[in-house]
Amino acid sequence: MSQRARISLADMTRMMAGGNESEAFNQPKCAVCNIIETDDRKLLTCARCKKTRYCSKDCQAENWESHKSTCKAQNYILKVSLCPAEITNPSVTRTLSCPSTATYEQLHRALQIAFGWASTHTYDFKIIDPNAQPEPLPDMGTYIARRMAQDAAQFNDSPIPDAGPRQNLLRIIEKDPFGPGGFGSGRGLDSMHNQDRDYEGAGIEYEYDFGDCWQHTVEVVGRAEASKGFLCLGGEGHGVAEDVGSVDGWLGLREAYRTANPTTEQRERRTWFESRASNRDPRGLGNGREWDWDSIAVSAKLRR
Ligand SMILES: [Zn+2]
Ligand SMILES: [Zn+2]
Repeated sequence: MSQRARISLADMTRMMAGGNESEAFNQPKCAVCNIIETDDRKLLTCARCKKTRYCSKDCQAENWESHKSTCKAQNYILKVSLCPAEITNPSVTRTLSCPSTATYEQLHRALQIAFGWASTHTYDFKIIDPNAQPEPLPDMGTYIARRMAQDAAQFNDSPIPDAGPRQNLLRIIEKDPFGPGGFGSGRGLDSMHNQDRDYEGAGIEYEYDFGDCWQHTVEVVGRAEASKGFLCLGGEGHGVAEDVGSVDGWLGLREAYRTANPTTEQRERRTWFESRASNRDPRGLGNGREWDWDSIAVSAKLRR
């Protein structure tokens, strides 16, 4: 049987980048007894970090006390799309590597940076029940009544009813949107409609700004190496303007830049976006800039 080292793609890239050659030729081996992997004897991999290898459960158990301090669970790769059914060509998406220990509040902050939002509005996360029966959108009167019941519940410290169709498994709201001791004093977690319901296949939605109602669909698309903070892996489309007037407002602003002969109103929209929007872009969206977003700046801000 061949004892020649098998070189993985990761080893190859490390070598090409001038990495440690002796490491590249190292065969996977048990972290305890150093038994190497062969075609006949496959090693086990730590389920949490997916890095450390063992020849047997016994070796893994023996090593756990010393391994657990360095064993980090893998990150989740999240693909986040802003109103994907309505905003296309370009779509507005960002793909993040999210530490497994991140809180929803930290994810909120990372999404604000990644999408270029100005953090001037409230937000919530909803875990959407995949088995919920679709419910028609409430009429305006019902909607307002539900919102008022929510506000009243926040004041009275009673359970906060869900404002939307009852399709959420869980709704996570901003802990204190108006500062410590402020007017909102939400408790961060509400509307666990039924704890016995099955979470498998449930989707996550992040809603930012209950006026413009920016719905971000969050999909878990894979796992990645553990990292201390969030990483930006990719994306598409210029970030959307705050207070632009929901999807129609954004599509209208894009149109104002696409047209060769803008109307007075379209010129005013451009000026507003370049000089007055809270996440304004002085360079506007002309000349294809609706496709531009600064992944390097996003990554730098995420590292702070
Ligand atoms: Zn071993
Ligand atoms: Zn591990």
